[in-house]
Amino acid sequence: MLAVSTLRLYYTEPARLAFAATVVAVEPADRGARIELDRTAFYPTSGGQPFDTGTLGNAQVVDVIDDEETGRILHVVEGLPPAVGDSVAGTVDGARRTDHMQQHTGQHILSAAFDRLFGVRTESFHLGRDVSTIDLARDVSRAEIDRAEALANDVVWSNRHVGIRFVDESEAARLPLRKTPARGGRLRLIDVADFDLSACGGTHVAHTGEVGLIAVHGWERYKGGARIAFVCGRRALDAFRVSRDAVTGAVRALSVLPHELPEGIARLQAQMKDSDKRVRALQFELASHHGAALAGAAEAIGGRRCVLAFVEGHEASTLKPLATSACAVGVAVAVVFSGEPAWLVACARAEGQAFDCGALVKALCTRFGGRGGGRPESAQGGGMAASRAELAQVVREALS
Ligand SMILES: [Zn+2]
Repeated sequence: MLAVSTLRLYYTEPARLAFAATVVAVEPADRGARIELDRTAFYPTSGGQPFDTGTLGNAQVVDVIDDEETGRILHVVEGLPPAVGDSVAGTVDGARRTDHMQQHTGQHILSAAFDRLFGVRTESFHLGRDVSTIDLARDVSRAEIDRAEALANDVVWSNRHVGIRFVDESEAARLPLRKTPARGGRLRLIDVADFDLSACGGTHVAHTGEVGLIAVHGWERYKGGARIAFVCGRRALDAFRVSRDAVTGAVRALSVLPHELPEGIARLQAQMKDSDKRVRALQFELASHHGAALAGAAEAIGGRRCVLAFVEGHEASTLKPLATSACAVGVAVAVVFSGEPAWLVACARAEGQAFDCGALVKALCTRFGGRGGGRPESAQGGGMAASRAELAQVVREALS
């Protein structure tokens, strides 16, 4: 049987959402079934624009595929599929279709603006879930983006007619198309009055005013050119609301005006860095005092004045000065633990003492796990799992 291409109602009636059609074929699919109709208002994924969703009889349309070889359109449905020969009612999801028409028409206008102002071609278009992108043939400056965005919105607000017409290849060759069509044969042209003429199979609004607003969302260098992300229509309003709420919250928190935000945040970061530095210096100083206090509780082990202490709430950075400061006030060897249950240890000795701090820390790590080491004069470790009595025993043996 020779496949007959599906009549595409959206080619001539892009605003039509409800239609009746006859089921031509039903094929089983991974999920549900693939339905072929004699005609359809459902747009299949192609040309950078995603498929429409909606209902076909009692079934949900979850994907629409363009079989370019045969020209058939396949509707992937979930739920009860219709049978071959059935007459079915199709309903396209209007909100999704309107959104796609706003983004797609906006793309024609924005691409034409870059082309007319700077002769920069659009290489490709992708209509994304949140933002859409066009890839430009060369990198563009911020000033160029601003001018193209401004011109594109002037075209939106002048509410020009967006026409649809069909021409054959030879006629198309004589027309000032923005881009050479990728395929031959009969071509569908989208004509934004006195602004842009492009061959395109997608769905577009009837007047540019329906696009509402074209807002550039971001840009980056991409493959030797530029990738411009943009939002149109309702998406532009949604994006504005997200930005507004973020800016309002930040402005309240920092007590600045919106334009002062970047500077306000930079100032805050500098203050935090400064505070961190001061906190570290104070912690160090506090540890020195604490170390001197520990020295007061020193005991004699192996004929030396030693400190063997367990302290709360210290980090590796504050534990070390604790041990060294104890040794600065008459203690021969100081061994201080903190951070139960994953013990940290700092060990220090006074000048001239014959004791190997590094060897002690190594011995503790070998026995109780963890990592650490150092020199004979001072050493540190962490991650040891042991009871206080077990740790104390190893230390006392080493000092004796
Ligand atoms: Zn288009």
